[in-house]
Amino acid sequence: MIPLVFHPIYSQLDLPERHRFPIQKYQGIYDRLRQEGIGSGQFIRPKPLHPGRINGALCPDYVSRFSSGTLDGAAVRRIGFPWSDQLVRRTLTAVAGTVLAGVLSLEKGRALHLTGGYHHGFYDHGAGFCIINDLYLSALNLLDKPGIGRLLIFDCDVHQGDGTARLATGNDRIFTVSIHGEKNFPFRKQVSDLDVPLPKGTRDDQYLACVEATLSAAVDRFRPDAVIYDAGVDIHIDDDLGHFDITSDGVLARDRLVFEHCDRAGLPVSAVIGGGYQRNIPALVDVHLNLFRAGLGAEFDGLQ
Ligand SMILES: [Zn+2]
Repeated sequence: MIPLVFHPIYSQLDLPERHRFPIQKYQGIYDRLRQEGIGSGQFIRPKPLHPGRINGALCPDYVSRFSSGTLDGAAVRRIGFPWSDQLVRRTLTAVAGTVLAGVLSLEKGRALHLTGGYHHGFYDHGAGFCIINDLYLSALNLLDKPGIGRLLIFDCDVHQGDGTARLATGNDRIFTVSIHGEKNFPFRKQVSDLDVPLPKGTRDDQYLACVEATLSAAVDRFRPDAVIYDAGVDIHIDDDLGHFDITSDGVLARDRLVFEHCDRAGLPVSAVIGGGYQRNIPALVDVHLNLFRAGLGAEFDGLQ
């Protein structure tokens, strides 16, 4: 059984009425999976990460200011969420979920997280709805495990994984790959180990060929022992923040391609859902569901 990591707190964040972040999507994905017959026993709840566990990897002053609500106004605006105790609890639980999914992927071969992908989180600041970089923290945690000498972070969110790239610079055991829109946030890009910027209007065929070639090159060049996959769906044609023209079938094909390639290479994969922005939550949930359709494979056969 492939573990699914979820906590109801993911959707429990009070935001201003017209805030663009679709916070309800996480509970929406959980509810759809349950409706489609996935048993409650397949879901595992993370416990919030203790801020002390982050301090070795990120700026202790930043983590402390975020946790205590003493970040300045500009730092909070850059993150994009109003500060609250709820935001701290949610953030620390969500980050713990990605770390947990990483550990579970080593045991089970694959694990899927119903949030995650905070790739705009830097050492001493957050940006673009990302506060604590879960991908980087999970990578560091996995590199402490026996048999994991090298880790690939494969980021297919439409926005460049700038925080991850910067954090992992100089760490030759973490290989960062980002396939993203060349003319999209963040406008000042960082340097990943492998960056693949794609133009506005990118369509399924071009995109899928690129994902296949890039993943193949990354695995061949770096020879990782495990993969963290950011399956952002803001590549979708209906997304409010992406500028690609990828269909739902294209999203499903991408996610299948990643899992199949990693299976052939014998690599455990922990996947996070990443970004996805549509005001129509059921439509957005439908697009995110492709990761579970691909990742659960035969377990998900009943779902159409
Ligand atoms: Zn994104």
